[in-house]
Amino acid sequence: MHDLVIIGGGPAGVAAGVYAARKKIKTALITDTFGGQSLVSDKIGNWIGEVEISGFELGQKMEQHLKSHHEGIDIVEGDFVERVERIQGDIPSFKITTRDGKTFEAKTVLLTAGSRRRKLDVPGEKELEGKGVVYCSTCDAPLFGGMDVAVVGGGNAGLEAVEDLIPYANKIFLLHHRDSLKGDAVTQERIKASPKVTVLLNAETKRVLGDKAVTGLEYKELAPGEIHPVRNSPPLGPSGAQSAGEISNGVKTLAVQGVFVEIGIIPNGDLLKGLVALNERGEVVVDHKTQRASVPGVWAAGDATDVLYKQNNISAGDAVKAVLNINDYLRGVERK
Ligand SMILES: Cc1cc2nc3c(=O)[nH]c(=O)nc-3n(C[C@H](O)[C@H](O)[C@H](O)COP(=O)(O)OP(=O)(O)OC[C@H]3O[C@@H](n4cnc5c(N)ncnc54)[C@H](O)[C@@H]3O)c2cc1C
Repeated sequence: MHDLVIIGGGPAGVAAGVYAARKKIKTALITDTFGGQSLVSDKIGNWIGEVEISGFELGQKMEQHLKSHHEGIDIVEGDFVERVERIQGDIPSFKITTRDGKTFEAKTVLLTAGSRRRKLDVPGEKELEGKGVVYCSTCDAPLFGGMDVAVVGGGNAGLEAVEDLIPYANKIFLLHHRDSLKGDAVTQERIKASPKVTVLLNAETKRVLGDKAVTGLEYKELAPGEIHPVRNSPPLGPSGAQSAGEISNGVKTLAVQGVFVEIGIIPNGDLLKGLVALNERGEVVVDHKTQRASVPGVWAAGDATDVLYKQNNISAGDAVKAVLNINDYLRGVERK
């Protein structure tokens, strides 16, 4: 029986692992990968102690830091926790089962599983994932040099994807299902200044087209006539052959070779569904003083929780708070 199982190897999980090892808490840390979501970022300029660092390098440094404490902690990497169950008994304890069929028992659990990308859930998306349908513009924008691409999502992530693509792609269609973009005004101005960019508002993505690779995207014009080509942008091609063409019922096609999906994230709090309280967004509800979840023996930190601001430093700090409180709990210390 471990004293603690940490789920996740992002900034929250790694910070928790380092603190747990230094507190000599008998710990297992199970993670799919190290570094977390900003692994894909080119430049991180707000990780305290580094003026600027790539997400990849930061991930490597986190892994190194954790592994330098390897005597104190069992690290299981490349595996994925699928289930967390409470073991019957008076004193809280938990059984953790992974995708590879490993099981762990622990007196306490700290969830730091962050969040994952929301999918479009339209025909063609799954089949063409990695064949033109992508979820990380920072990673994949350079692969679309000279091509026409669609970015789906009008929030900051969508706008940033467009910015990432401008140096590479030939034409970029930004599709948003509402009548105005949501992302920062400054970024909107920047992308609108590019002659490569066309914004399609009230455009609901219906299908990704292609067999071995993406060849196009179908979208429904929700309010006909409300498509706003951006100032300076070339109008949609009249023939439809190169850019857009109407099929029926307001459904149009774009001939594109890439589809960047940037429609939000889903917190991985759902791993604890049925065990602890989650809010309407699926985030673990925690006491922000201690990071305790609603059930004794379970803590959570980082993007998987109902913390207001989702940032690397905050995730790491909240995880430290959790481990210090777990340490007190394991030693029977109650602090006010
Ligand atoms: C593109 C991008 C750029 C960003 N840039 C910045 C930035 O510059 N500065 C900043 O402060 N923040 C940035 N953020 C936000 C920041 O990345 C997050 O706030 C932070 O990563 C959250 O850390 P976390 O440890 O809570 O979760 P995550 O980073 O999501 O880490 C979760 C970890 O858990 C693992 N995992 C998930 N589910 C399971 C499971 N079931 N079993 C085992 N392992 C699992 C994952 O593999 C991952 O290692 C950025 C986010 C994105 C998407």
